Amino acid sequence: MKQIQRRSWAEPFKIKSVEPLRMTTREEREQTIKEAGYNTFLLRSRDVYIDLLTDSGTNAMSDFQWAGMMLGDEAYAGSENYYNLEKAVQEFYGYKHLVPTHQGRGAENLISQILIKKGDYVPGNMYFTTTRLHQELAGGNFVDVIIDEAHDPQNTFPFKGNVDLQKYENLIKKVGAEKIAYITIGATVNMAGGQPISMENLRAVFQLSQKNKIKVVFDATRAMENAFFIKKREKGYENKTIKEILLEMCSYSDAATMSGKKDLLVNIGGFLAINDDAIFEEARNMVVIYEGLHTYGGLAGRDMEAMARGIQEACQLDHLQARIGQVEYVGNRLLELGIPIVTPIGGHAIFLDAKKFYPQLEQLKFPAQTLAAELYLDSGIRAMERGIVSAGRNKETGDHYYPKLELVRLTFPRRVYTQAHCDVTVESVYEVWQNRESVKGLKMIYEPKYLRFFQARFEKL
Ligand SMILES: *Cc1c(COP(=O)(O)O)cnc(C)c1O
Repeated sequence: MKQIQRRSWAEPFKIKSVEPLRMTTREEREQTIKEAGYNTFLLRSRDVYIDLLTDSGTNAMSDFQWAGMMLGDEAYAGSENYYNLEKAVQEFYGYKHLVPTHQGRGAENLISQILIKKGDYVPGNMYFTTTRLHQELAGGNFVDVIIDEAHDPQNTFPFKGNVDLQKYENLIKKVGAEKIAYITIGATVNMAGGQPISMENLRAVFQLSQKNKIKVVFDATRAMENAFFIKKREKGYENKTIKEILLEMCSYSDAATMSGKKDLLVNIGGFLAINDDAIFEEARNMVVIYEGLHTYGGLAGRDMEAMARGIQEACQLDHLQARIGQVEYVGNRLLELGIPIVTPIGGHAIFLDAKKFYPQLEQLKFPAQTLAAELYLDSGIRAMERGIVSAGRNKETGDHYYPKLELVRLTFPRRVYTQAHCDVTVESVYEVWQNRESVKGLKMIYEPKYLRFFQARFEKL
């Protein structure tokens, strides 16, 4: 009998409600992408078939979460759902206090303003856009202390999210511990391609920080997915539950910022979680200015309930196995077809190497932007450019940054697409790969001043 590969990542759910998708023709797509200036951010979602733009807020909720939405206690103060969320955060993440926020950046704003003084330094294992911006707005200077392996797309080190302890210690020696507001530790580092940090490294960072009286703020947005990688890859954790691993991870920090739009299987929501009573008091005072009263933080009661229930579901091993298994399935099929992608395959996305697709295009013909447009033209799949357009310009010289990497990100929303959608994605990438030689690139015809990748417009060369 023929041996078949066991699909151990298969989905631990069945589909109860569907959202019909509009199927478009190539002629229609030629028109819509032209109107969108060959920028996938400017497409209307009704013109997209499989939307792999981001995994942020695009998750499918369960019947248990939807049932919780009906139990929303929409009181201005002291909503029942706030207490349910507080209980879930204490039980699964282990922090003492909770301040809900409308999404992750709300929590980042609070903790940055409370802990950073002008001129302080804030080291981190690579940056995240909103996190770094809030640190800078509060007067801080971000310093990258991630290991060098993280910057190399072909390096297969299993924990490319680790902090380089030597870089961290050098910074402490150079500027003095009292000038370091705190260290931010990200889990499953997005900008490095969804790469995890190890428990051993988390522990070592916390010990070094405590020795120097520096606080550790954990970006727990993708911590559950990181816990899954620790279980799979780190010795001594094979038999621990995700819940046990997550609690230990969080125990090596003083506070956490959280975007519920990723791990927690909701469409909106976030929180700040804190152990220190005094910092909590301050955050509770400040949240009223920016988000809402401290028992809702910009969220409806039903949103807090959905997030409280999402915490329980996101921590299930079956769920994480299917979520990360789906991404690995697509990545492995692409590798088998000889398509150039970033390895190891990350937790939430596949990154196509556009420079290898289009060696004939110099960087100013926007290879990644071109590849994302070609993919949309072929099948209506929407991806995101992560190359020279995203990198922007140097503020002093006005010249483009020329990043080493020209990537296209295919990001998988949780519990949304089926294996057949994954197959269509692989087939479409392969089709675009086969037609790579005739492609001529793009010309930028409109460039906004800030975060240009969102609204820049292009023309075909
Ligand atoms: C999305 C994200 C954030 C910001 O959260 P928002 O909910 O989008 O404000 C912060 N950190 C990481 C790692 C993220 O992925």
